[in-house]
Amino acid sequence: MGRAGLLIVDMQNDFIPGSYPGASLTVPGAESCVAGINAIRIAFKDAGGVIAHTQDSHPADHCSFYDNHHGAEMFSIRSIPSPDGGKMDQVMWPRHCVKGSRGHEFHDHLVVETSDLIQPKGRDPAVDSYSGFFDNLKGRSTGLADRLQAQGVTHLFVVGVAYDFCAGSSAIDGASCGFKTYIIENLTASVGADTAAAMKEKLAEAGVVPIAAADVQTYLRDVGAHDVAPIGPTKKDSIDHSGLARRYSSTSPNFASY
Ligand SMILES: [Zn+2]
Repeated sequence: MGRAGLLIVDMQNDFIPGSYPGASLTVPGAESCVAGINAIRIAFKDAGGVIAHTQDSHPADHCSFYDNHHGAEMFSIRSIPSPDGGKMDQVMWPRHCVKGSRGHEFHDHLVVETSDLIQPKGRDPAVDSYSGFFDNLKGRSTGLADRLQAQGVTHLFVVGVAYDFCAGSSAIDGASCGFKTYIIENLTASVGADTAAAMKEKLAEAGVVPIAAADVQTYLRDVGAHDVAPIGPTKKDSIDHSGLARRYSSTSPNFASY
C-alpha cells in the first residue's frame, strides 16, 4: 500500500506578508495559503498520511544574504566562492529566516503538531538550499527522503512558498528521489511571474503533477488503492564537496534560469 506525505515548504514569518512587522522576504499571496494548508492537512491525517515541514534555518553569516557581501545589490545574482574552491551563482536575498529570530518561526496561524516531521535546511553558511532534500549544489542530502521513506511515504504532495524557488525545487527533488510527486498549485505562491513560468516548465520536465486543493481527496484515495513498488535507495548524506562544481554546472535544476 502507498502512503501519502504532505510537504509544507517554508511557511515561516519572513516569507509571509503581514506575519510580523519585520517580515523581510514576503511572497505575495503566501498569507492566503495558511488556512488552506491547515484545512488540507486534516485530509492527509484522515488518510493516514505523514505531515512534514521544511524550515529555512540560516546562520547570520549565510552566503545568501546580500549584506554579507560588500557592495552587493539585493536580488542581484552574484558569483561567489563555492565550497570546492570554484565559483557558484547565488541570488542576493535580503536577510531572512535567521535561526532563533521571529522571521524563522512558522506563521502563528499555521497548524504545527508535535507529530509533524520538521526538516531544517540552509544551515551551512557556505551553500544555499532551496530544496528540502538537497543543497543547491546537490552535494549534500538533508536526509528528508530517508525520513519520509522510513515512514512508508510513497506519494508526496507539495505546498508552501515559494513556488518558483523552494517549493518547486523541493517537488523536483522529491520526484528525483522516487516519490510520485504532486504540487498543489493553489496552495503555493511565487516571488515573480518569470521565475514561476520557468519553474512550471522544470516541474513538468521532472514529472511533477500539478493539481488543485479541491482534487486532493481523489488523489489520496488513489494512494491507498494501489500497491506501490518500494522506492530504491537515495543519495547518501555526505559532507564531501568534491565534484560539486561539475554537478552544479550539469544537472542542478535550481539555477537553470536565474
Ligand atoms: Zn533562505
